[in-house]
Amino acid sequence: MSQKFSHILAPLDLGFTKISNRIIMGSMHTGLEEERDYQKLARFYQERAAGGVGMIVTGGIAPNFAGSVAPFAATMTRSKHANKHRVVTDAVHQYDTKILLQILHTGRYAFHPFLVAPSSIKARINKFTPWKLTQRGIYKTIKDFVNCAQLARQAGYDGIEIMGSEGYLINQFIAKRTNQRTDSWGGSFANRIKFALTIVRSIREALGSDFIIMYRLSMLDLVEDGSTFAENIELLAQIEQAGANIVNTGIGWHEARVPTIATLVPRMAFSWVTAKFMEHAKVPLVTSNRINNPVDVEQILAKGEADLVSMARPLLADPNFVQKIKQQNTQLINKCIACNQACLDNVFKFKQATCMVNPRAGFELEHQIIAAPNQKSIAVIGAGPAGLACATTAAMRGHKVTIYESSQHIGGQFNISKLIPGKREYQSTIDYFSAQIKELGITLHLNHSVTEAGLNAKFDAIVLSTGISPRLPKIEGIEHPKVSSYLDVFYGDIILGKNIVIIGAGGIGFDTAAFLLHQEHIRDIDAYLAYWGVDKSLKHAGGLINRQHVAPKHNIIMMQRKEGRFGANLGKTTAWAHRMMLQEHGVQMLAGVTYDKISDAGIHITYNKKPQIIDCENIIICAGQEANGNRLSEHLHQAHPQTPVHIIGGARTAGELDAVRAIAEGDLLARKL
Ligand code: NAP
Ligand code: SF4
Repeated sequence: MSQKFSHILAPLDLGFTKISNRIIMGSMHTGLEEERDYQKLARFYQERAAGGVGMIVTGGIAPNFAGSVAPFAATMTRSKHANKHRVVTDAVHQYDTKILLQILHTGRYAFHPFLVAPSSIKARINKFTPWKLTQRGIYKTIKDFVNCAQLARQAGYDGIEIMGSEGYLINQFIAKRTNQRTDSWGGSFANRIKFALTIVRSIREALGSDFIIMYRLSMLDLVEDGSTFAENIELLAQIEQAGANIVNTGIGWHEARVPTIATLVPRMAFSWVTAKFMEHAKVPLVTSNRINNPVDVEQILAKGEADLVSMARPLLADPNFVQKIKQQNTQLINKCIACNQACLDNVFKFKQATCMVNPRAGFELEHQIIAAPNQKSIAVIGAGPAGLACATTAAMRGHKVTIYESSQHIGGQFNISKLIPGKREYQSTIDYFSAQIKELGITLHLNHSVTEAGLNAKFDAIVLSTGISPRLPKIEGIEHPKVSSYLDVFYGDIILGKNIVIIGAGGIGFDTAAFLLHQEHIRDIDAYLAYWGVDKSLKHAGGLINRQHVAPKHNIIMMQRKEGRFGANLGKTTAWAHRMMLQEHGVQMLAGVTYDKISDAGIHITYNKKPQIIDCENIIICAGQEANGNRLSEHLHQAHPQTPVHIIGGARTAGELDAVRAIAEGDLLARKL
């Protein structure tokens, strides 16, 4: 066994069963739970089990219709549902991996009109108002939890996770803000936790002692009128007594206004919460949230801040996370960069989850990497995300790959992204590709611009992935010295004044504004918690205190021509935090602007039908991108008439380009070459 990661690789003995190591794949809805059969879901988990993870928790499955997240979302109420899950548990049990079914009753978070809750109080994030559960309804719901757990055992699961956090039904019973009942299920803390305790106790009684019950306890609600630390310690003791074998940490309700898992959250920003509960716990505790790196996992375990670490997205990004730790090949781990762009953003749009850095996630059956029947020599021109994905997948298939990159680094646009406060994680993807280039024996030529004359070697296929160039809009005076590209800002090539106008409010416009504000709180955990008003002393209910604001360095005005909301195209799960941070730093957002001209006086615009001049020292252009591969492709066709030339990513079309599409296109092409 490896010494380096000895804490991660140590098994956990629960008495009647053992978990082979300390990494759990946390629950995450993929969208595959709603498929007609579970072959894809089974393959998805099978690859993670084969990759060595100790235990898997499925996406949330409702114990009854009212508790389902949406009208056609997965439930487990009858034997036929249990039978459908068999393929999943059988697939996982080919390996030394345990699998738990997560029982999730959404309560007032359900997106359908039959939702129920302890009290009829609508959630800020839902348009439906819940029906108040009657006493009979409460007993029926408890029975449904027990029935679901029994069916889970019938389906072959090693246990269940009871979702008691994140503001779902059980959590709604526990918190005063959502439980205003006057009967024996509301009022005192003892009454409010009775629902949770009865569920755990009833399941333990019905299932016996050789079945894992993990309870997800909201250790930090991050909402007003949430639980106090003392209450949570009491709840932990009672949940243990009721029969839970493991307690998992929940951080933040879905309606909380504190980002808890996005890229802008520093790594391990919340493991201190679990650490505070450790001395009070009799059963093993699990920590989670923004943990994506084996070194961090080992450190948490070695310091005794938790007994197990749960990661969902990192196992989406790399199914072989644990295997690579065992093999001491951690540099080959494809790390989750917490962008949410292809996983949670998809789930919240009711689309299937996948992963930006691993487009095969969720598509393991369809997108297999199959050895190429004939080895080809392939030139990849441009080492941005699209080119790198294509080069590495092609090399994995056995092709001989050569990369030509005009700059001195690989990574393309990710080299810019990593400079944005809160996006340093993008470096991990560059590091991953660097390691894979070495591992797979790919030839890399840096500082090598491919010109119209073409390549000086013969290839069987050429892939053009030269990316995009920033668009320069046609505005009178655009050549004025006040005007710069966002690239000049990121590379520190211009002197910035106090007053800055940003033209364009897409992803790059937002990133540029964030960069200009120099938000130090993004880097440091304590500063981050202070900025978002998280009470690290845990003296306040819900873990919230007044927020601390940082004075902005610049006065920034962002503009766009279209009417409507700023940041409409940003990620569904992260846009609110970006918008809120900019607004709190006084960034003005003008929509429906016409750009008339630029002069020494500043930028002349028409806004609200009135001409105005905005005095400013700098005008930064963030007006989207243009594809830059098409012209070179024509020349390459002429220079190498016998060789197919493929264009991918931004080089082909810049519209709607993001790294999700770029990487997926690179991977897809490589699987066909
Ligand atoms: P973008 O998202 O397409 O935004 C371009 C912006 O420029 C828009 O606000 C647009 O607004 C404006 N614009 C377009 N043509 C213009 C013109 N001729 N004159 C003046 N303004 C013009 O492009 P991007 O910001 O460069 O981002 C590139 C890609 O990376 C996008 O897919 C983006 O989603 C992705 N990205 C995402 C994030 C994130 O999610 N956090 C961060 C960075 C990048 P009007 O047309 O209304 O003026
Ligand atoms: Fe992580 Fe982004 Fe992949 Fe989601 S899409 S798993 S956040 S890298």
